[in-house]
Amino acid sequence: MSGRVRIVVRRRRARRQLAETPEVAELRKQAKAYLPGRLAELAAQHGFSYNQVRIKHNVSNWGSCSVKKNINLNLNLMRLPAELRDYVMLHELCHLKYMNHGKEFHALLESVCPNHKALRRQLRDYKLV
Ligand SMILES: [Zn+2]
Repeated sequence: MSGRVRIVVRRRRARRQLAETPEVAELRKQAKAYLPGRLAELAAQHGFSYNQVRIKHNVSNWGSCSVKKNINLNLNLMRLPAELRDYVMLHELCHLKYMNHGKEFHALLESVCPNHKALRRQLRDYKLV
Protein backbone atom coordinates (compact mmCIF):
# COMPACT_ATOMS: atom_id res chain seq x y z
CA MET A 1 0.00 0.00 0.00
CA SER A 2 2.81 2.43 0.72
CA GLY A 3 4.00 2.03 -2.88
CA ARG A 4 0.62 3.17 -4.15
CA VAL A 5 0.64 6.27 -1.92
CA ARG A 6 4.09 7.23 -3.17
CA ILE A 7 2.98 7.03 -6.81
CA VAL A 8 0.06 9.38 -6.11
CA VAL A 9 2.36 11.93 -4.48
CA ARG A 10 4.81 11.70 -7.37
CA ARG A 11 2.09 12.33 -9.98
CA ARG A 12 0.80 15.32 -8.08
CA ARG A 13 4.28 16.84 -7.96
CA ALA A 14 4.91 16.06 -11.62
CA ARG A 15 1.76 17.96 -12.66
CA ARG A 16 2.88 21.12 -10.90
CA GLN A 17 3.36 23.83 -13.51
CA LEU A 18 7.00 24.70 -13.95
CA ALA A 19 7.95 28.02 -15.46
CA GLU A 20 9.79 27.99 -18.78
CA THR A 21 12.38 30.56 -17.77
CA PRO A 22 15.15 31.48 -20.24
CA GLU A 23 17.46 29.19 -18.23
CA VAL A 24 15.06 26.26 -18.56
CA ALA A 25 14.55 26.96 -22.27
CA GLU A 26 18.32 26.84 -22.73
CA LEU A 27 18.61 23.58 -20.76
CA ARG A 28 15.81 22.10 -22.88
CA LYS A 29 17.63 23.05 -26.07
CA GLN A 30 20.86 21.49 -24.83
CA ALA A 31 19.04 18.41 -23.53
CA LYS A 32 17.29 17.77 -26.85
CA ALA A 33 20.55 18.16 -28.73
CA TYR A 34 22.56 15.87 -26.46
CA LEU A 35 20.57 13.37 -24.39
CA PRO A 36 18.83 11.26 -27.08
CA GLY A 37 22.13 10.63 -28.86
CA ARG A 38 24.00 9.80 -25.68
CA LEU A 39 21.23 7.45 -24.52
CA ALA A 40 21.37 5.64 -27.89
CA GLU A 41 25.15 5.35 -27.53
CA LEU A 42 24.95 3.88 -24.00
CA ALA A 43 22.14 1.52 -25.04
CA ALA A 44 24.14 0.23 -28.02
CA GLN A 45 27.26 -0.15 -25.89
CA HIS A 46 25.49 -2.32 -23.31
CA GLY A 47 22.91 -4.09 -25.48
CA PHE A 48 19.71 -2.37 -24.33
CA SER A 49 16.83 -1.46 -26.60
CA TYR A 50 14.10 1.01 -25.80
CA ASN A 51 11.15 2.44 -27.63
CA GLN A 52 11.13 6.25 -27.36
CA VAL A 53 13.02 8.86 -25.40
CA ARG A 54 11.43 12.11 -24.27
CA ILE A 55 12.91 15.14 -22.57
CA LYS A 56 10.87 16.21 -19.53
CA HIS A 57 10.91 18.99 -17.02
CA ASN A 58 9.71 18.01 -13.56
CA VAL A 59 10.90 18.16 -9.98
CA SER A 60 10.11 14.54 -9.13
CA ASN A 61 12.79 12.52 -10.96
CA TRP A 62 15.96 12.72 -13.05
CA GLY A 63 14.60 10.09 -15.35
CA SER A 64 12.00 7.36 -15.61
CA CYS A 65 11.26 4.24 -17.61
CA SER A 66 7.79 2.91 -18.47
CA VAL A 67 6.57 -0.65 -19.00
CA LYS A 68 6.18 0.31 -22.67
CA LYS A 69 9.97 0.77 -22.71
CA ASN A 70 9.81 4.53 -23.12
CA ILE A 71 12.48 6.51 -21.31
CA ASN A 72 11.96 10.03 -19.99
CA LEU A 73 14.97 12.16 -19.16
CA ASN A 74 14.85 15.37 -17.14
CA LEU A 75 16.36 18.41 -18.84
CA ASN A 76 18.12 19.14 -15.53
CA LEU A 77 20.55 16.35 -16.46
CA MET A 78 22.37 19.00 -18.49
CA ARG A 79 23.40 20.67 -15.22
CA LEU A 80 25.22 17.54 -14.05
CA PRO A 81 28.78 16.37 -14.69
CA ALA A 82 28.89 13.91 -17.61
CA GLU A 83 29.45 10.83 -15.45
CA LEU A 84 26.36 11.57 -13.32
CA ARG A 85 24.33 12.09 -16.48
CA ASP A 86 25.51 8.72 -17.78
CA TYR A 87 24.73 7.11 -14.42
CA VAL A 88 21.09 8.30 -14.55
CA MET A 89 20.73 7.07 -18.14
CA LEU A 90 22.28 3.68 -17.33
CA HIS A 91 19.98 3.39 -14.31
CA GLU A 92 16.94 3.96 -16.52
CA LEU A 93 18.25 1.56 -19.19
CA CYS A 94 18.54 -1.17 -16.51
CA HIS A 95 14.83 -0.62 -15.74
CA LEU A 96 14.08 -1.87 -19.25
CA LYS A 97 14.96 -5.30 -17.86
CA TYR A 98 13.87 -4.92 -14.23
CA MET A 99 11.06 -2.52 -13.30
CA ASN A 100 12.13 -2.38 -9.65
CA HIS A 101 15.20 -1.78 -7.50
CA GLY A 102 15.71 -5.41 -6.56
CA LYS A 103 18.83 -7.55 -6.38
CA GLU A 104 18.89 -8.40 -10.09
CA PHE A 105 18.45 -4.76 -11.04
CA HIS A 106 21.43 -3.76 -8.89
CA ALA A 107 23.58 -6.58 -10.22
CA LEU A 108 22.87 -5.42 -13.77
CA LEU A 109 23.54 -1.78 -12.87
CA GLU A 110 26.81 -2.85 -11.19
CA SER A 111 27.88 -4.60 -14.39
CA VAL A 112 27.27 -1.57 -16.64
CA CYS A 113 28.25 1.13 -14.11
CA PRO A 114 30.67 -0.26 -11.50
CA ASN A 115 30.87 3.00 -9.50
CA HIS A 116 27.11 3.52 -9.34
CA LYS A 117 27.00 3.66 -5.53
CA ALA A 118 29.42 6.59 -5.35
CA LEU A 119 27.67 8.34 -8.24
CA ARG A 120 24.29 7.91 -6.54
CA ARG A 121 25.69 9.61 -3.43
CA GLN A 122 27.08 12.49 -5.53
CA LEU A 123 23.71 12.96 -7.22
CA ARG A 124 22.18 13.86 -3.86
CA ASP A 125 24.13 17.14 -3.92
CA TYR A 126 22.09 18.30 -6.91
CA LYS A 127 18.53 19.56 -6.81
CA LEU A 128 15.94 19.44 -9.56
CA VAL A 129 14.74 22.91 -10.56
ZN1 LIG B 1 15.14 3.46 -10.55
